[in-house]
Amino acid sequence: MPTLLLPVSLPDFLTQPLRAQHDCVSTPQVDVRGLVVPGGYAVTETLLAALPKLEIISVFGVGYDGVPLPLCRQRGIRVTNTPDVLTDDVADIATALVLMTSRRLGEAEQHLRGGAWPQGAFPLAHALRGKIAGIFGLGRIGKAIAHRLEAHGLKIAYHGRQPQNLPWQYCDTLIELAKAADFLIVACPGGPETRHRVNAEVLSALGAEGTLINIARGSVVDEAALVQALENQTIRSAGLDVFENEPQVPQALRNCRHAVLLPHIGSATHETRRAMAQLVLDNLTAHFADQPLLTPVV
Ligand code: NAP
Repeated sequence: MPTLLLPVSLPDFLTQPLRAQHDCVSTPQVDVRGLVVPGGYAVTETLLAALPKLEIISVFGVGYDGVPLPLCRQRGIRVTNTPDVLTDDVADIATALVLMTSRRLGEAEQHLRGGAWPQGAFPLAHALRGKIAGIFGLGRIGKAIAHRLEAHGLKIAYHGRQPQNLPWQYCDTLIELAKAADFLIVACPGGPETRHRVNAEVLSALGAEGTLINIARGSVVDEAALVQALENQTIRSAGLDVFENEPQVPQALRNCRHAVLLPHIGSATHETRRAMAQLVLDNLTAHFADQPLLTPVV
């Protein structure tokens, strides 16, 4: 049986079938042929150097920003991820964040639970119809978000590395997108290319009536600049599922009344996590049987 390294805890419904078909270890060993890690896990060069026989890295998630792809290509290490099966769930969470921020749902619920309702009605919030959603990174998840928000009456604009053959408005720059958007929605990959692309200048372009939504990676947003923009009310609100140093979320951000904060639950449903686990298993089975990978990155 091939030896697999599982360096961090993964769900039982993934580890049990993995252990049935492989020798699974939790610390690096020279005979390791496969590595299974959650999305975003930092696969360091030191770790790779300790695994001379590594053939495949299977990422339990779609984001492979923690995997050094050039080094993997150089060493002939295959990389797989779990795209598509999580798209709907993540797009649902983005849509929920748009609704939660615009209608102030978290605060409204606290108003009731805290007993404030008899003293007065909750303040008016903001409608979605006619507003513009600016999507940064119009891939699988970005498009699923766009379709959902169109159904809520929003208009769609987007920015990526190039325009796509789609009926939505393309903005040449992220600044232009932020200026146009009422909701700037981050759905691009993490990693060095997109690190801190949403910075103070972009937040200032989003403006005092704008909301930032991030379901992609915390690294894309300069969190200190975001806290400042929220505190100074130079943007209206933020809805975040991901953070720069998660699971640590700065107290200053937790103190922001106009931020809706979720603990990275984009794909966290029984159905989706099981479908992701099946893809990890199927990719590994295909690899060790010399069959084509189902969802190869490299
Ligand atoms: P995808 O289909 O690859 O879409 C990403 C899009 O981003 C691409 O269409 C690409 O469009 C654009 N892009 C890539 N590099 C860019 C850059 N440097 N600047 C601007 N745009 C860039 O990926 P996906 O399946 O939609 O997933 C997107 C991300 O969501 C993942 O990478 C992951 O980090 C995150 N995610 C989060 C959760 C969660 O639980 N919150 C769950 C799953 C995924 P162009 O080629 O046109 O630039």
